[in-house]
Amino acid sequence: MTTAPSRPTPRVADLGNGVWTVPVPIPDNPLGVTLVYVLETEAGPVLVDAGWDDPISYQALVDGLIEVGTTIEDVHGVLVTHAHPDHHGLSEKVREASGAWIALHAADAEQVDLINNAPREAWLRHHLEVLTLAGAPQDALDALTRHREVSVTRPRLHYAVPDRELVHGELAPAPGRAIRTVWTPGHTPGHVCLHLEDGDGRLLSGDHLLPSITPHIGLYDEAEEADPLGDFLASLTRVAQLPITGVLPAHEHVFSDAAGRAAEVAALHEERLSALRTRLCERSLTLWQIAEGMDWNRPWAQLGAQNRQLALSEAAAHLRHLVKRGRAQAEAGGGPARYTAL
Ligand SMILES: [Zn+2]
Ligand SMILES: [Zn+2]
Repeated sequence: MTTAPSRPTPRVADLGNGVWTVPVPIPDNPLGVTLVYVLETEAGPVLVDAGWDDPISYQALVDGLIEVGTTIEDVHGVLVTHAHPDHHGLSEKVREASGAWIALHAADAEQVDLINNAPREAWLRHHLEVLTLAGAPQDALDALTRHREVSVTRPRLHYAVPDRELVHGELAPAPGRAIRTVWTPGHTPGHVCLHLEDGDGRLLSGDHLLPSITPHIGLYDEAEEADPLGDFLASLTRVAQLPITGVLPAHEHVFSDAAGRAAEVAALHEERLSALRTRLCERSLTLWQIAEGMDWNRPWAQLGAQNRQLALSEAAAHLRHLVKRGRAQAEAGGGPARYTAL
């Protein structure tokens, strides 16, 4: 019998200069934990991310803060790197317990508004249109409809509406500390990293820069001008140019070489782009065919409907970026869109 390699369970740790890490579990998720960071400020502890909204996760955060030497009631504010549930999920509970403010970039505040308020029927209609244009087979359309029928019976996901805005280049609201907001769109439109200045130099990188895994880059915006992968590659360059002494990511573990890792991740996407272009030189493909032929962590046939949706969105982001670079184009004609190399 073989067992999955066990990764060491991260623990609450003092990382020096008024920074602690509190691992908050993400139930039933291979990522394991979100690393919430606690920053000491003149007004009390400020959190960077809050964790997944689940009683087990909340308890881990409450207990972790006690281990750090403070309490959940003392939290002054929450700086959210991006509006994903493993980062922003618990923000509301922290605010309720402490009266803390919640700060987020405007572009992700817009995503929060969409998630909280977009009509559910329009969501299904829109995604069916996207799948049809991608050339998805009928069983994929049926799977999406079934998934939606089940999910509308569940209570609607509600994200905390932020009180403050994180603005690129400005200092985050953490009294007595110099924490610079660095806008790093790509994984989400409003993802930010936070750079600890004042002789510290470490970067709180959220999901933008992780030591061994890479964040999902999907085509989150259908608008023609959107280019999330282009944004992500530019955000990698932006981070690589900062004077960074160490990286405090939201998953996995602390590491040191920000510029080296940024270059590795960029090279990985360049490889995928060039592999995709090679395929488009051979014959024209629909987005569905493109996604089917890309490398995923499991064979395409074994991916469930939701993972296929993520894969399709990631394939779309790569295809969009090739089109933006003038290396691929859509063929004229009706029906599902087909793409060729340029
Ligand atoms: Zn994320
Ligand atoms: Zn994450």
